[in-house]
Amino acid sequence: MRQVDYLIIGGGVAGTSAAEFIRMHDSSGSITIITEEPELLYSRVMLPHYLRDQVPFEKLYVRKPQQYDENKIELLKNTRANKIDTQKKEVDLSNGEKISYEKLLIASGGKVNKLQVPGVELKGITYLRTIQDAQEIKELISKVNNGVVVGGGFIGIEYSQSFVKAGLSTTCIIREPYFWSSVVGENIGRVINRILEENGVKIISENEVGEFIGEGGLEEIKLKDGKKIPVGIVGIGIGIRMDLDHLEGSGIKTNKGVVTNEYLETETKDIWAAGDIAEFYDALFDKYRQMGNWSNAAAQGKVVGTNMVAGWGPPAGGGREKFVTVSAYTISIFDKTFTLLGEPVADNKTETIERGSVEEEKLGNIHLRNGVISGAALLNLPADRRPIEELIKNRIKIETSKEKLTDTSFSLNNLLSN
Ligand SMILES: Cc1cc2nc3c(=O)[nH]c(=O)nc-3n(C[C@H](O)[C@H](O)[C@H](O)COP(=O)(O)OP(=O)(O)OC[C@H]3O[C@@H](n4cnc5c(N)ncnc54)[C@H](O)[C@@H]3O)c2cc1C
Repeated sequence: MRQVDYLIIGGGVAGTSAAEFIRMHDSSGSITIITEEPELLYSRVMLPHYLRDQVPFEKLYVRKPQQYDENKIELLKNTRANKIDTQKKEVDLSNGEKISYEKLLIASGGKVNKLQVPGVELKGITYLRTIQDAQEIKELISKVNNGVVVGGGFIGIEYSQSFVKAGLSTTCIIREPYFWSSVVGENIGRVINRILEENGVKIISENEVGEFIGEGGLEEIKLKDGKKIPVGIVGIGIGIRMDLDHLEGSGIKTNKGVVTNEYLETETKDIWAAGDIAEFYDALFDKYRQMGNWSNAAAQGKVVGTNMVAGWGPPAGGGREKFVTVSAYTISIFDKTFTLLGEPVADNKTETIERGSVEEEKLGNIHLRNGVISGAALLNLPADRRPIEELIKNRIKIETSKEKLTDTSFSLNNLLSN
């Protein structure tokens, strides 16, 4: 049986950056990455830009084969980890082999949620997660006139912009009254709807897909209220789920994801988790959380790579790093930017300050918890991102009057120097 020092399940940005940081701290240990996909590391973030012809296909790849060779990182493509035996420290692979490890990282990311309605098997119904998905969508886009987007979140926004850019008549179906209803306030959500509509996206809100209809290929969507829409391509973005099947029976603690402490260690000796799948203890907010963004996955890869070399558990010689970050996700919505920071959802313990105005199309919902900013949603206020990140990270008490904060001509950098 093959034996490796460091085994990594998942060849996305978390797994790859972990491998590279392991190599930085350990020049001789053997490193193997197992990935289900037939690809080197590519940027999922860039996939929508590829759809919109803003990035050529080759630029999607963010690592070259020689970078794996130079770092002595073995990449087993088209290979799934099926089962983990934590007693024997072995992993069963989909090619029938077993591989044993000294230290194991689970960085297996997420999978798209699939819509469960009649007709989902028709050609023309797409999801956007992998490079193959993007290639399929790009080919279809060029052959049809009507695009329908299902879902009112980040992927729905990306699909909408891509369909409009390709000249398709674009309709977006959302269950809620406005985009990101579960995250942002109505003020921001309604302006996002308006920006999309001004750019040619028709929004059908508070409705759902009942059925996809077509003979041979996709022709129509029947909504729950009975209305029918002609369609050539559907883009579905209704969130991701964690694929925890390969962890079944392993004893590794899972909840929504793989549970870790602030060092990204699971409770099982010599096993760590990082990236979208990690449900880590966030010392900043004193709670367990998952983040679904690229920079977080890359940053966790860096920390976990360092920690895997240092060793699991309280170390004899030290060297472990805590993972502490302010979650940030920014997206362009046509010519505007939208950012979610920290804990962007308000609750009964937060006080929300509404910055800017609908008229300016600049709006921020900044949440304060005990006088300290805990999170924010920012529409078209890019200069606020950095000061808010600093204010959250350093738990700086906000003494400035609330009126000042509502005014976008007052720079939030002023709060940092106080
Ligand atoms: C279209 C799109 C646009 C995005 N845009 C942004 C953006 O603008 N900004 C941003 O911050 N984030 C964005 N994201 C999110 C970001 O890409 C992810 O958060 C990030 O890629 C997660 O990296 P990861 O390494 O944790 O997981 P993944 O990239 O999901 O990698 C996990 C890998 O593990 C493999 N795997 C899973 N199970 C197994 C198994 N059992 N055995 C072997 N291999 C397995 C998977 O096939 C996959 O290759 C976007 C995502 C998508 C899909």
